[in-house]
Amino acid sequence: MDLYEYQARELFADHGIPVSAAETVRSPQEARAAAERLGGRVVVKAQVKTGGRGKAGGVKLASDPAAAELTARQMFGMDIKGHTVRTVMLAETVDIEREFYASYVLDRAAGTFLAIASAEGGMEIEEVAATRPEAVARIPVDPAEGVTEARAAEIAVAAGLPADTAPVLRGLWQVLVREDALLVEVNPLVRAADGRIVALDGKVTLDDNARFRQERWGESRRDSGTDALEAAAAERGLNYVKLDGEVGVIGNGAGLVMSTLDVVAGCGARPANFLDIGGGASAQVMADGLAVILSDPDVRSVFVNVFGGITACDAVAEGIVRALESVALTKPLVVRLDGNSAARGRRILEDRAHPLVQQATTMDGAARQAAVLAHAE
Ligand code: GDP
Ligand code: MN
Repeated sequence: MDLYEYQARELFADHGIPVSAAETVRSPQEARAAAERLGGRVVVKAQVKTGGRGKAGGVKLASDPAAAELTARQMFGMDIKGHTVRTVMLAETVDIEREFYASYVLDRAAGTFLAIASAEGGMEIEEVAATRPEAVARIPVDPAEGVTEARAAEIAVAAGLPADTAPVLRGLWQVLVREDALLVEVNPLVRAADGRIVALDGKVTLDDNARFRQERWGESRRDSGTDALEAAAAERGLNYVKLDGEVGVIGNGAGLVMSTLDVVAGCGARPANFLDIGGGASAQVMADGLAVILSDPDVRSVFVNVFGGITACDAVAEGIVRALESVALTKPLVVRLDGNSAARGRRILEDRAHPLVQQATTMDGAARQAAVLAHAE
């Protein structure tokens, strides 16, 4: 699970990493009041789980509380790379002398953790790594050993960071370990004009497998927007990922669902989600899946793609019929059943004759139908 910047900063502060004073707000009026408390001149920052907000207009300087209110007003509802801004953070301004980059990431290929640091922060690190790889230090960190004082100093030297960033480098490692994170990143970590080292941005990805022992983040799953759908799906135990399109997708088996996404995209439409209902595909799972997908306001049609293997298509069809009893179908549903007992499954759906349910015999045909329905007015 990715955290918002303001959540990442809370973790940083808990582990002794200096951050600028900040408040999060949910309305322009609150922004004005927060700016007043923060001293008037503030940085207004859209809280979305994607990088490059600066370039996208999601990070703006406001010279006084009135300007902060206006800037926040423009930011709420703004779309940044498919993420809608619902929370805005205001931070005291920091006069930047230099910008650095520091992160720890799990390097699955190497089977270890990696410290990545650079004296060229502020811009996108991928760009720096591509054009000037020598400017980015990549140092393996043995998790059993961790980042000792000596190791932190080594990382700082290798990356060309000033020696007094070492405590931050140790603190970030502590965040990774104690909070069960897979990624901890600060860009920019800055040298302020008054000499302090301050983390001005934060990105943290928590390891979902550790959720059972990290109760404090249980609440943040029930968040706004996109996350509300994923949270609702997670509560029902569904294997669901929200995407940006308009065709809802349900399938059995991760491979089939991924192919379905491709086929939908090949028809000029965009999938709205990934949802694998697995082998069982019971009526309950079908109903739960449909409920989540139908509650996504972006969804305009739903494509159910099932290849009957161990689970026979007639059982899946029964599941759909029973799901239709508990879920009010509000958007057209295209069903493609193939494989084990497909003919019987199709007959069950024909007999049910729901006006919003139509069937297709091939995956391509069904995707085309779903795409047309999604784009019909
Ligand atoms: P990102 O674009 O999503 O990574 O958002 P950042 O939080 O990194 O902000 C983008 C850029 O805005 C940073 O690289 C800084 O140059 C600038 N910035 C952010 N906070 C401050 C601040 O408090 N003072 C100043 N002067 N610049 C800031
Ligand atoms: Mn940044």
